[in-house]
Amino acid sequence: MMQRARELDAADAIAHFRDCFDLPEGVIYLDGNSLGALPKASRERLHRVIDAEWGEGLIRSWNELPGGGGDWIAMPQRVGAKIAPLIGAQAHEVIACDSVSVNLAKLIGAALSLNPGRNVVLSEPGNFPTDLYMIQGQPQVEQRLAERDTMIEALDDSVALLLLTHVHYKTGEMFDMERLTKAAHDVGAIVLWDLSHSGGAVPVDLNGADADLAVGCGYKYLNGGPGAPAYAFAAERHHGDFTQPLTGWFGHAQPFAFSDEYEPAEGVKRLLAGTPPVLAMAALESGVELIAEIGMDALVAKSRALSEFFRECVADLDLDLVSPRNPAQRGSQLSFRHENAYALSQALIARGVIGDFRDPDILRLGFAPAYLRFVDIAEAARHLAQVLETGEWQRDEFSTRAAVT
Ligand SMILES: *Cc1c(COP(=O)(O)O)cnc(C)c1O
Repeated sequence: MMQRARELDAADAIAHFRDCFDLPEGVIYLDGNSLGALPKASRERLHRVIDAEWGEGLIRSWNELPGGGGDWIAMPQRVGAKIAPLIGAQAHEVIACDSVSVNLAKLIGAALSLNPGRNVVLSEPGNFPTDLYMIQGQPQVEQRLAERDTMIEALDDSVALLLLTHVHYKTGEMFDMERLTKAAHDVGAIVLWDLSHSGGAVPVDLNGADADLAVGCGYKYLNGGPGAPAYAFAAERHHGDFTQPLTGWFGHAQPFAFSDEYEPAEGVKRLLAGTPPVLAMAALESGVELIAEIGMDALVAKSRALSEFFRECVADLDLDLVSPRNPAQRGSQLSFRHENAYALSQALIARGVIGDFRDPDILRLGFAPAYLRFVDIAEAARHLAQVLETGEWQRDEFSTRAAVT
């Protein structure tokens, strides 16, 4: 397998982009789906923003500085515009701000404003918790849950919003965005897609699917850094029509008019609430630029090739794959069910193979195509085989749960 892996690496047209990341020696990082790696350019970018824009420019950096740089005020739109082509959106339909959770609250509110008279939000049991919690936190909303194979039957004319995560965080299963969006529109419902495990890893065509609203995560496949701002999408046809509940001053038509009355800005700018976190935004911008440079087509092809190669490498092991076998129907990850998944993940981490565990019994391995090599895949598979064969995972130290798994 190692020989094959070397050949695949030699033929990989985007292999050199690995050098754009800082990866620790002796680590095989299979958790880029939870926290992306550090782009070398982000370290430089942050130093520049800290020293030149904050240190020297001070408050002047909110506007463009003479000689370039600054223009912090435009960062949410600028970064959103760079994310847009990665998800099949137009530049002015995406804005970078807040966390996914906060953007969900805003967009659930936006959906209700577009669909007055309806109050049901339909989702699936086992969706990412924050998606469900944010539905449950809306006092006027009735939550309805349906299993994914009965989702379309559960749609009726009481549904204001269908809120789904495109790629399931635990299993990697992917919804057919176009089909579900159409089914929702057929009953007059708005659709909100959570792209947290999709953006930067799988093909997404929001406008091609006629999607209404979307959110996505900045710190996973976009490598925006821990707690990076998220992004929000609203289709152009809804601009001007929707309102959202977090009516802060940055979403005002003229924040620096300091008027007493809220008046929403045009388009997605009204999704802003407060002052953007400039340092975090700069790191996200740098991560997004790198993903855009590598290109989604190449990333998608490599993601599929990496995960298929891993499957080949572990074909002889007694493992229960819960992700779809067809790489076009899953995210950039493989999830395996195992009674001792937590201890297995810990034993792998002790060997330098960092994946993760998702309650109650899932070992989740992510394949970030921007920086993983096929030799990493072959090595990771070899470690997994050894951990299983030797029973090494049974050691006591591997069963104590940390706060973050
Ligand atoms: C990672 C993730 C989030 C993260 O939400 P935050 O509010 O940014 O912490 C939300 N939804 C899904 C599906 C995720 O995978």
